[in-house]
Amino acid sequence: MLPAITGLSADALVGWLQSAGQPAFRAQQIFEWVWKKQVRSFDEMANLPKALREQLAQAFRITSLDHSQTQGAADTTRKFLFRLHDGRYVESVLIPANPALYGQASDRLTLCVSSQVGCAYGCKFCASGLAGFTRHLDASEIAGQVLAAEQLSGQRVDSLVFMGMGEPLANLDQLLVAISLITHEQSLHLGARHLTISTSGLVPQIRQLAEHPQQIRLAISLHGATDEVREQIMPINRKWPVAELFAALEYWNARKKQKLTLEYILIEGVNDALEQAEILAKRAQKIQAKVNLIPYNKVDGLSWKRPSDNRCKAFREVLRRSGITANLRLEKGHDIDAACGQLRLKQETHEGIIAAPAKQSS
Ligand code: SAH
Ligand code: SF4
Repeated sequence: MLPAITGLSADALVGWLQSAGQPAFRAQQIFEWVWKKQVRSFDEMANLPKALREQLAQAFRITSLDHSQTQGAADTTRKFLFRLHDGRYVESVLIPANPALYGQASDRLTLCVSSQVGCAYGCKFCASGLAGFTRHLDASEIAGQVLAAEQLSGQRVDSLVFMGMGEPLANLDQLLVAISLITHEQSLHLGARHLTISTSGLVPQIRQLAEHPQQIRLAISLHGATDEVREQIMPINRKWPVAELFAALEYWNARKKQKLTLEYILIEGVNDALEQAEILAKRAQKIQAKVNLIPYNKVDGLSWKRPSDNRCKAFREVLRRSGITANLRLEKGHDIDAACGQLRLKQETHEGIIAAPAKQSS
């Protein structure tokens, strides 16, 4: 299988051109054809000599994603299912308006991007974690989701959240190549501040990303304000307990301008006690983070429930009284299994490629 040209950084493309005896300036033209004009074959790259187009076609494919299915209507949340070269599937969700949850403007088109097939972190409430880890996505498979979503929708994507399937910081090398492609000025040219990476709290990688020159936003899946509560539902907390996580977040704050976001799923009887809200408020205050409260989305096969609306609001009020910006998240795409935490390998399950332990609710 040929590698996809959508996985080559600008430098890597220049390197390839040099080894093929071609001038470096062609890289810019190729980038424009692939990312801006979004052609589907090398033959369409009209300002390249025919010989170079043939060389490219022998060395690369344009994309590594085959569109397999779209769910949802054009004016609402849409979920795209892509087939990868090894028969695995990955999903991206296009969300028409992001209600200012991550500090981004509210009338934008946001794409929720996957970073892995499955996830190794096994959070007890999460559909992606249920099936276990299959493999990392490479840069072309990550950045290619944005290109494909633009092609399929006919619209420009304004912002990205890395909140689809997988743990993005466990795949940091390929994620950073993908981000360099997505933000490159001859490519999609998305501003780094329109990209939000969500992590379950990989402390060394948070510190590493804090050193990264681009102003990428970070959201932390906290879901428990104390070790006692958090480790019940997030096995990673045993490796990186809350105190170490917050030390890394302070390190992040010392190097980055953008406000951190703490994500907190509300699960009845597990983490929704108002004492948790009090502790969460203190922690958020200390690192000047805002908090997104996410009423739990039901996953079939798991017995967790979302608390009543009243309890969710009471939890938010505790935070607000402490001066914390706290949003109670209105889920989009719940009906198409595209809400956060609901991305699962349905298609693979149907085809029997992997046996998932539980079916998704709709
Ligand atoms: N692995 C990363 C990013 C993917 S998960 C992370 O954990 O942050 C994206 C978000 O969806 C996380 O905040 C995750 O905790 C949340 N999520 C997972 N399962 C959920 C569910 N059933 N209901 C609501 N949110 C869920
Ligand atoms: Fe993985 Fe994130 Fe799901 Fe946890 S919440 S299992 S880290 S995708």
